[in-house]
Parts: sequence; structure tokens; C-alpha cells
Amino acid sequence: MSDREHISLIGAGLAGPVMAKYLSDHGYIIDIYERRPDMRVVKQSAGRSINLALSARGIEALKNIGIFGEIQPSLLPMKGRMIHDMDGKTHLQPYGQKEDEVIYSVSRAFLNKNLMDLVESTGNVKIHFDHSLENIDINNSELIFKNNKKISFNRVMGSDGSSSCMRKCINERSSINFRKKPLGHGYKELSIPATKNGDFKIDPEALHIWPRGEFMLIALPNMDRSFTCTLFFPMDGETSFSSISSSDQINDLFNSYFPDTVDLIPGLVDEYQQNPVGSLATVYCDKWNYKDKLVIFGDAAHAIVPFFGQGMNASFQDCTVMDVLIGQFNSDWEMIFSQFSKTHVPNGHAIANMALENYIEMRDSVNDPTYKSRRELEFRLENDFQDQFIPRYSMVSFHTIPYTEVYKRGLAQLKMMDDYLSGDITKFELHENILKQLTPIP
Ligand SMILES: Cc1cc2nc3c(=O)[nH]c(=O)nc-3n(C[C@H](O)[C@H](O)[C@H](O)COP(=O)(O)OP(=O)(O)OC[C@H]3O[C@@H](n4cnc5c(N)ncnc54)[C@H](O)[C@@H]3O)c2cc1C
Repeated sequence: MSDREHISLIGAGLAGPVMAKYLSDHGYIIDIYERRPDMRVVKQSAGRSINLALSARGIEALKNIGIFGEIQPSLLPMKGRMIHDMDGKTHLQPYGQKEDEVIYSVSRAFLNKNLMDLVESTGNVKIHFDHSLENIDINNSELIFKNNKKISFNRVMGSDGSSSCMRKCINERSSINFRKKPLGHGYKELSIPATKNGDFKIDPEALHIWPRGEFMLIALPNMDRSFTCTLFFPMDGETSFSSISSSDQINDLFNSYFPDTVDLIPGLVDEYQQNPVGSLATVYCDKWNYKDKLVIFGDAAHAIVPFFGQGMNASFQDCTVMDVLIGQFNSDWEMIFSQFSKTHVPNGHAIANMALENYIEMRDSVNDPTYKSRRELEFRLENDFQDQFIPRYSMVSFHTIPYTEVYKRGLAQLKMMDDYLSGDITKFELHENILKQLTPIP
């Protein structure tokens, strides 16, 4: 091997290989340690969500590392939310106004495998599977894996997911404010297979939502023309995963709340009974590094609930932010890691909060008349003030503006719109406020 610096990376999920490719492009040699066996060789369940929504922040990173062209043919554009009412009526709520303002459904396994192939093809990255990190001995610069296997390191970057061992190791060394807040709701996946003729059963150019107040069902299209549905549901209580388990209860639930899906999901009872319930939580961690030695990113740093479709996109943006800092500070890792943590932690908190707010919007507000009037107004204002006013959903999904800025502008915009819609200010005053308070978006 050359005398180029070696960096260890924990976790070959979605974010790990993206970071590894950026590092490789900077000339580093990377060893990735992954707990699972190689998913390209050993068939295993996709784990969490089978498919995901990819949008601007994720696409930017995939373009930067040179893999977007390969992924693109396997992306399914979704133009908006298709709302399914109780009476079976549907209507599309577009995500944006421009033709390219769509989000893309992508297979998690497909993306993960392609990312692994890409990093291995650089010749600078080796992925060591079946290596589960259990601790880090900082004084002796050793990573300690299962069965007490020890491997020395120079520097470690951790993308080992929401229950991160790396995060635990960093937290143990400094008293960092860390909270993991369970949502109280979990999720279960179900499937809508393709028709006998191999067609989609419902419109493939939308993310389907059955909003039902306390809970909701969503469906994203797959390349094989099936849909993966996710039921987001309370963990406990009268109508919850813990109370609904028998075939009668499952059929009753779906006949009562999702009647138009009963014919779409032929394996409903079996899938409901066999598929696991996933738990959902938000991780707020106020510091992501330990000196110039350890840093976390991705879900390890900011696991969020999936209602803005941003967990992966935010994790990929972490890698882009790190890439810029490496370019800026050359090999001053103390600066790179500390700046990454200092400047980017607030962005993690901001998207975590917006994702929580979006759960209420998706399961409850999308059919609310006030929500609908606000949405119409947002689009009109976007047309009239193109440089200044961008709907919050669009800022998150179609732009790469830092999430803190999105959050701040979103609050200001919301106040202006609500003041106008409630009659407190005139249209003229609304326009004046936009021009005065919202600086042009870079
Ligand atoms: C139901 C659901 C739907 C979602 N939908 C979307 C969406 O539509 N859009 C979106 O952007 N995001 C979505 N997300 C979020 C997205 O899945 C995550 O944000 C993303 O996977 C984070 O990538 P990561 O690499 O940080 O973590 P992960 O992808 O979880 O990868 C972590 C890796 O680390 C490995 N690992 C863990 N512990 C160790 C250890 N001790 N030692 C070694 N290796 C270890 C794991 O095996 C895994 O391979 C969704 C999440 C859920 C749960």
C-alpha cells in the first residue's frame, strides 16, 4: 500500500459508501467495516423500507461522486401526493409547479449495492463485511469488533445507523447533550403486486397516501410495477399494532379505514402477521466529533422520522458538506471534524423537527381546507416572487439550501400567509412583507 492516509469508516449502509467515494476522490485509502454480510452475495431482507424517496440533496451527492447516471434509469418519478379519501375518491396534490419538481422512488437494495460496487471499483476502498463494532480504545487507537477482534486506526468516520455504536463511543468521552425520542408510532410494510399483465395497479407517478388522522398508509412504486405500502400506526392503544393482530381485526381495520386497498393487497393478512413492526425515533445529538479522531454522520448523527423523505437525502448531504470541508481545510482534521459538527448539527436538528411536523401534515392536514388554501397561495407567491418565496416543501426537496435556513424562511412565510388568509393583512401588505423580510435565495 502507499503512504497515503488510511481512514476507517463504520457502516456500509447508504451513507458510508458515499462518504468513502468522496474520500477516495481526495486521495485517501478507506477501510469500511460493516456488521452485515455482503448483500450482493447473501440474500437478506432489505431491513428498513424497501424503497425510498430520493430528492435534490441526495441527487447532488450522487452526481458529485459520479454514479447518478447509472442510477437514473431505475428511478420512478413521483409528481405529487395522491390522496385517497375514505369514499375511494382520489386527487393529486402536486409537489411542485415545474416539470422537474418531482421526487424519485428508488430501491434501497439496488442503490446500496451500486454504491458498494462503485467504491470497490476505485481500488482505494475495501469493505470488510461481518465486522460489528463494539467499542473503541482511543488511547491505543484500536477498533474493537465482536469476538474481541482488534484493528488499529488513524481516524474513524461512523455511519453505523440510528443505534450507532460510534455515537455511544463519542458520547462516553465528552458530556454531549444527546436525546433519542421515540415517536410512539411504528411502521409495517405490505405490498401491492403488479396486475396479471404486469402493470401497475394504481398510478405509478405519485406517492399514494391514505391519511386517517391518527395514522396513515402510504405506497411508493417499484421498478417491477409493484408498490410497497407502509402502514404508520400507533405502537400501543385501542387501535394500534399491539391491539390488532388476528385476521378478523386486520380485515376490520382495512375494511373500515382503507377499503379501496383490500383488493389491491391480496396478501394482506399474511403480510401483516409476518412482517415486522419497525420502530421510529428522532435522535438529537449536539456534537458529532471527538477531536480529530472520531466523527459521525448520517442516521448515526441525526436519525429522523421518515415523513419528509429526507433521512437518506440528509445523510448524503452530510457527505457533500464533509467533502467541501476537506477541500477547504486540506488535512487539518481537527478543523474539518469540528467545523462539520459545529456548522451542521443545527441542520440535523432542523430537518428532524420538520420531519416530525410533516407526519401531522401527511396523516391529518392534507385534506384540511386551510392547508389547501395555504398550498394554493404558496404556489401563487412562488410565481410572483421567484427569487424570494419558495414553498417549504420545495426548499427541502428541490433545493440544497441548509435546513436551518429552510426552517427559518418556512416559519416567516407561514406567518405571512396565515396573516393574509385570516384577513389580518391585505394582499399589498403581504407582498410588501415578502419583499422586506425574505432575502433572495442564493
Ligand atoms: C420506513 C422508513 C422509510 C424511509 N424513507 C426514506 C425516504 O423516503 N427518503 C429518505 O431520504 N430517507 C428515508 N428513510 C431514512 C433512510 O433509510 C436513512 O436515513 C438512511 O438509511 C441513513 O443511511 P445511513 O448510512 O446513515 O444508515 P443505514 O442505512 O442504516 O446504514 C447503517 C449501516 O451500518 C451498519 N452497522 C450498524 N451498526 C454497526 C456496527 N456496530 N458495526 C458495523 N456496522 C454497523 C448497518 O448494518 C448498516 O449497513 C426511511 C427510513 C425508514 C425507517
